[in-house]
Amino acid sequence: MNRLWVLLPAAVIALGLASAVAALQSALAGVVVAVVGGVAVAALVLVPVFRTTRTIGIAAHQLAAGDYAARAGYSGPGELGELSEAFDAMAQRVQVQMAAASEGRNRLMAALDSSVDPVIALDSEARVVFANLAAQHLFERDAKTIAGDSIAWLLPDEQVIDAVRSSRESGTQTRIDIEQPGRRFFQVVTSSITAGGEWAVLVVLHDVSDVRRTEQIRRDFVANVSHELRTPLAGIKAVIETLAEGALDDRKAAMDFLNRADSEVDRLILLVEELLDLSRIESGGVPLERRETDIDALVREVADRLRPQAERKRLDLVLELPGSAGTATIDSARIERALLNLVLNAIKFTPDGGAITMSAEGTRSTIVLKVRDTGIGIDSAALPRIFERFYKADLSRAGGAGSGIGLAIVKHAIEAHGGSVRAESALGAGSTFTITLPRLPA
Ligand code: ADP
Repeated sequence: MNRLWVLLPAAVIALGLASAVAALQSALAGVVVAVVGGVAVAALVLVPVFRTTRTIGIAAHQLAAGDYAARAGYSGPGELGELSEAFDAMAQRVQVQMAAASEGRNRLMAALDSSVDPVIALDSEARVVFANLAAQHLFERDAKTIAGDSIAWLLPDEQVIDAVRSSRESGTQTRIDIEQPGRRFFQVVTSSITAGGEWAVLVVLHDVSDVRRTEQIRRDFVANVSHELRTPLAGIKAVIETLAEGALDDRKAAMDFLNRADSEVDRLILLVEELLDLSRIESGGVPLERRETDIDALVREVADRLRPQAERKRLDLVLELPGSAGTATIDSARIERALLNLVLNAIKFTPDGGAITMSAEGTRSTIVLKVRDTGIGIDSAALPRIFERFYKADLSRAGGAGSGIGLAIVKHAIEAHGGSVRAESALGAGSTFTITLPRLPA
């Protein structure tokens, strides 16, 4: 009994505890159910949100990486839908603007590439950031290998480096003239580029080689004409002085001196006529007077006119006319003049007892005229230059002093007809001049 009384409260406590634990357990279970339920509901709502924001995030990254066609493409309800639509609208605008910008850039590049003048853009360190096609061609390098090169390396010219520096530092535009290998002359213009981003200085090279060459030709021309005029004038002056000093009283000597003066005057007249011819032809001032011309007859006429001169030097003037030359529509006076020049040269440069052969033959569309001599010939160094104005090969070999204009006139006359003239010769082996003319004007 006593024991029962001892155990009873313990049992009551134990029972109470068990029910309390049970109650606690069931309460806890309720909480767990509630939490799990809550998470499930939250997951149902949040997963699509995460998915959409992730899609927008990916599209944003793609756009940033240059894929301007990237879109989020979510058109659901609520703020996410609005965000996605706003993003897509922005991406669309970026795409349009980038397309316009790249079209503008392409146009600029195409324009710079089509420029005949080499154009180079430099950064603020004077390194190449762009070189157009003409520049790549000039430096014989492609765009990739030029990019990054310093201008000092590309164009090692102190004036250019100074000009680039002053354009970069003080924004001035500078023009300088430089010479490149192969006697090429350039005017270099350097300008600073404001708001050009990476492009700080623009260097444009303008090829002025032709202008320089023309200036040189003009200077040479004046020098040559003065020289050619001075020689006969000095001769005439010497004759006058000799006559004045007493030779006038010696009738025979006086006649001798007068003859000498006369031939100097002839030389002057010939020179002035040739100069006038040349200037008229070169300025295109005399149009061709084309007429149908019998070529064999033209060749015979030239031979007849010059035969006395050839005979004086005991030169054989031979005609080779196989009869195939026929007619051609040419300015006969000009072609006759050209042939006269060639035969006169042949007479001048062929020693006594030699032979000169004139020939004419033709194909269906062309006429070929040749003047061949057995004279002193032309050395290989002089041969490519004999058609230049005032060019004369070593005169000590020839005796007769010409002006060096004759062959330039021949070349002009033939080329005005759309034909060509060439010379084949070797020192001591005679010369052959060949004229090829079209039968009809082109
Ligand atoms: P030039 O008045 O000196 O003859 P050209 O223009 O007619 O001027 O000729 C130029 C040069 O070409 C001559 O000085 C001469 O050296 C050379 N030449 C022309 N024709 C002949 C030829 N038939 N034989 C040798 N040399 C020639």
